Amino acid sequence: MSLIVQKFGGTSVGSVERIVCVAQRVSNTAKAGNSIVVVVSAMGKTTDGLVKLAAEISKNPCRREMDMLLSTGEQVSIALVSMALQELGQPAISLTGAQVGIVTEAEHTRARILHIQTERLTKHLQEGKVVVVAGFQGISRTDALEITTLGRGGSDTSAVAIAAALKADFCEIYTDVPGILTTDPRLVPEAQLMSEITCDEMLELASLGAKVLHPRAVEIARNYGVPLVVRSSWTDDPGTWVTSPPVKERSLINLEIARPVDSVESDTDQAKVALLRVPDRPGVAARLFGEIARQDVDVDLIIQSIHEGNTNDIAFTVFTPILPKAEAVAAAIAPVLRSHKSSPNEEAEVMVQQNIAKVSIAGAGMIGRPGVAAKMFATLAAAGVNIQMISTSEIKVSCVIAAQECDRAVAALKEAFDLDTPHTPHTPPLQEAATRLHTP
Ligand code: ASP
Ligand code: MG
Repeated sequence: MSLIVQKFGGTSVGSVERIVCVAQRVSNTAKAGNSIVVVVSAMGKTTDGLVKLAAEISKNPCRREMDMLLSTGEQVSIALVSMALQELGQPAISLTGAQVGIVTEAEHTRARILHIQTERLTKHLQEGKVVVVAGFQGISRTDALEITTLGRGGSDTSAVAIAAALKADFCEIYTDVPGILTTDPRLVPEAQLMSEITCDEMLELASLGAKVLHPRAVEIARNYGVPLVVRSSWTDDPGTWVTSPPVKERSLINLEIARPVDSVESDTDQAKVALLRVPDRPGVAARLFGEIARQDVDVDLIIQSIHEGNTNDIAFTVFTPILPKAEAVAAAIAPVLRSHKSSPNEEAEVMVQQNIAKVSIAGAGMIGRPGVAAKMFATLAAAGVNIQMISTSEIKVSCVIAAQECDRAVAALKEAFDLDTPHTPHTPPLQEAATRLHTP
């Protein structure tokens, strides 16, 4: 007998047949004695269709009206799923974000959840009903009922936040894939289903662009210790558990904004290889990194800077132990990248630098908030730390700096982002994590 939050994505509720299947699954779980909150997305490609409609009316639609429009997709799904459950004899009630009391920031189209009122959810659960909640939406002001949305793909975030607020036993994300797959061809010839992955590893995948789960959902699961599983809504296969270490009780107020950055990481095992004055023409980077990949050299950050005239500098960082190999590859390709006719004698020059470090800030709270990266740069500047290279992803900003300045940079960043205590453990590099996941 558990309290379970089950989230069904757009394809899982994409047609009447699919909705009936979902209702069947939910009602079976309910009949087994569990209390269930269902969170649904809009049917199929409904949200895309609504975005398109708006674009036909206005090039730059008002964000408040976009939320008014996009939130309707989920409202259709909740009503239909509730009806389907009732058809099966399972008592159910649908609720919009406003009816539940999912309170968000006033940032239309990308609001973060501040808190979730649980009274109405709990009341209906106690009445023996399945509560079907619209994902992706909330309200920014309980008095004025201003509808907000959480950003595309946000219903995962709704589901995990509701699970955290209700202290549910677990949260199931039903989707159209069997779970989380590894697709790194360097590690496995074909994609393999993982039975388990940690939230930190999941976020690392997200920072590399893998779109499996909304990173904000993963972050809430980790911060509140919500057991999370990603499964197929077509089968009964167990899917992939996304695990988190035990957490201390944490306030449910300001659920998503308490900390935009939740870790500062550093890595001093980095070296930089730079190719100076490579010709500025299409195909040069492809050729260089093609060769590097063929030699199996794993590159981390890449930066290209433009010169006046017709050359560029391209620099990349590697894990120090493979520096000799990386340098050899760069040296071998440099003559091939020789500048063309206009300056035939000029040859790309290879330069290596060993005493560098990479410092990164990470956290799903920085999605769509450029101010967070700006604060990192300002903090490093105030600490007198020079930034040599920068790379960013949705949930991470990394800077290459001098190794001797690393400790000072980390201390300044921890202070600026309020991370002094407790110490956040270093996220394992992806490759290490992935290797671990593959060993049976
Ligand atoms: N319907 C919304 C979207 O398509 C939210 C979601 O599906 O998670 O982005
Ligand atoms: Mg989705």
